[in-house]
Amino acid sequence: MIRCTNCHHPYPDTGVPYKCPTCGGVFDMPELPPFDPAQVDRTQPGIWRYHHTFGLPKNAPVVTLGEGNTPLVWAEAATGLSFGKQVAFKLETLNPTGSHKDRGVALLASFLRSQNITEAVEDSSGNAGASFAAYAARAGIKARVFIPDYASGPKRNQIAAYGAELVRIMGRRSDVADAVRRAADDGAVYASHAYLPHLLPGFATAAYEIVEQLGQSPGTVISPAGHGILLLGLARGFDNLKRAGVVARVPRLVGVQALSCAPLWAVYSHGQAGLGWVTEGDTIAEGVRVSTPIRGDAVLSAVQASQGTLLATPEENILPGRNELARRGFYVEPTSAIVWDALGQMIEQAPEPVVVVLTGSGLKSN
Ligand SMILES: [Zn+2]
Repeated sequence: MIRCTNCHHPYPDTGVPYKCPTCGGVFDMPELPPFDPAQVDRTQPGIWRYHHTFGLPKNAPVVTLGEGNTPLVWAEAATGLSFGKQVAFKLETLNPTGSHKDRGVALLASFLRSQNITEAVEDSSGNAGASFAAYAARAGIKARVFIPDYASGPKRNQIAAYGAELVRIMGRRSDVADAVRRAADDGAVYASHAYLPHLLPGFATAAYEIVEQLGQSPGTVISPAGHGILLLGLARGFDNLKRAGVVARVPRLVGVQALSCAPLWAVYSHGQAGLGWVTEGDTIAEGVRVSTPIRGDAVLSAVQASQGTLLATPEENILPGRNELARRGFYVEPTSAIVWDALGQMIEQAPEPVVVVLTGSGLKSN
């Protein structure tokens, strides 16, 4: 059930408001429809085998490009440092548009179709925009995507190639968010991957797959975090498996941010005082350059409940991390590469098995 986190109003049956029409609060789906192993339908493609956990309206069509079902590949964590542990890498880079966003955006496109939406706007640093453009094309929805001028060339080209209208905004990521909210105020349907909670059950499918692939719950899951929505979806997914009795424990969740723009890390490490020195600094990890995470509270509580943590990667360690991953055959964008430094920070204390989510393909970076 989707409700406003502030006034608890349920999400309306018709229309696609991106925030609560009553109070302006953020909508959330705190508990996903229960996971039932007997209802997992292996005749369906990718994430759609978990259709019963999506909470989509009955008339929502399956919109798919084959997202999900990504490989889990083991590799040695780090040379040069003395540990040399084996870590499992979840290759979200192999989704249809090259990032994990496809898991959530497939559900978003399905939901939009159920509401007879034919035109929508979205804002993104690149990956969500590319994913939205692809699934909008698939669903016959006209897409307009607002992106920051610094978004990488390959991402811009990808969005345009799918047929979406590209709106480039000068300035910071937050200026892009302001611009798209103005479009929404003027009446556009704002199909926001950050505000709309309809994507969360899609990200939860990564948790279901990881447990199937490992044959058990991981001890630790590490992922990049901008808004932290992937991390939150994973948390909800593992909770769902625990409630169903499929796993006995949930893993420690570790979110990684770029140090130059690390609000979740700042608050987790230093409390509210940490917010005082959050900057929207330059970082090559453009996908996690988010100074005001929309579901920050929920992400922090999920991390805390899992006994996990948030870490920040200094800028100078991002590209060396990208190269270390590439030497193992994993070519990721800088946003994904921030996990490497974080692994070095915490792997000694991390309960095993350790799973690292590689979110975006290196082919998307300049
Ligand atoms: Zn409300």
